[in-house]
Amino acid sequence: MIDYHIHSFYSEDGKMSMEAACAAATGCGLAEMAFTDHMEIEWPDRDHPFEIEDMAKYFADIDMLRKKYDGQVKIKTGVELGMQPHNLKQASEYVRSHAFDFVIASFHIVDGIDPYYPEYFENRTREQSYIDYYRTIYSILPGFDDFNVLGHLDLVRRYSPFGYDENDHRIGLDIVEAILKLLIEKDKGIEVNTSGCRHTSRLPLPHPYIIRLYRELGGEIITIGSDAHHAEHVGYGNHTALELIKSCGFRYITVFTGMKPEFIRI
Ligand SMILES: [Zn+2]
Ligand SMILES: [Zn+2]
Repeated sequence: MIDYHIHSFYSEDGKMSMEAACAAATGCGLAEMAFTDHMEIEWPDRDHPFEIEDMAKYFADIDMLRKKYDGQVKIKTGVELGMQPHNLKQASEYVRSHAFDFVIASFHIVDGIDPYYPEYFENRTREQSYIDYYRTIYSILPGFDDFNVLGHLDLVRRYSPFGYDENDHRIGLDIVEAILKLLIEKDKGIEVNTSGCRHTSRLPLPHPYIIRLYRELGGEIITIGSDAHHAEHVGYGNHTALELIKSCGFRYITVFTGMKPEFIRI
């Protein structure tokens, strides 16, 4: 069991210490975990900057825990990096100047607003809310390579006030397919983000149909992440996600060291 998407107090919205996350990880039998705290370059709300304030301390704390939990759980140093059209150069510099094991590229801002907020959906239909999100990813992704997996590809579903419809994954499927092809071309992966299982649709992000499509198009790099901000969510939905990945035709799950993939047979 592997959890490659965990937030600690280093994230603006984190609700657990790194130590609590490690304890939870060993408690639920994780073999490997990655801290992926939020780093948003030029986040619009300056009162709540989603930034890891002290990078040296971030690395030192993880290092200390890596030693402490040696033999119990492998701990990787990651980051969930927020992508915006104007921050790509800085984002690249940021990744290249730190010794990360693993980088998730995530999209939390569309036209200046986070779909976390109801305003995002105010002037959008169900269709438009997904399409605008996918278009944002597709317009930015070609200009960025310093990452390993794309985070929660259909994030909009987690917050949609329209409720979940079983055909939601068909919306904007041509753009989704183009995004997946681009990822494959770049040798990048997707994550199965089990936080979706804790929300209305009860399904991971992205939708299983999209996970299967990535595989069918030739994609092989896939991680599992709980997106835990609380200790009780560490490792959440891991077994279900693993079964799903298998049923979608994957034979390996991916882990990373120094941003280099290693494939572990499922
Ligand atoms: Zn995220
Ligand atoms: Zn996250």
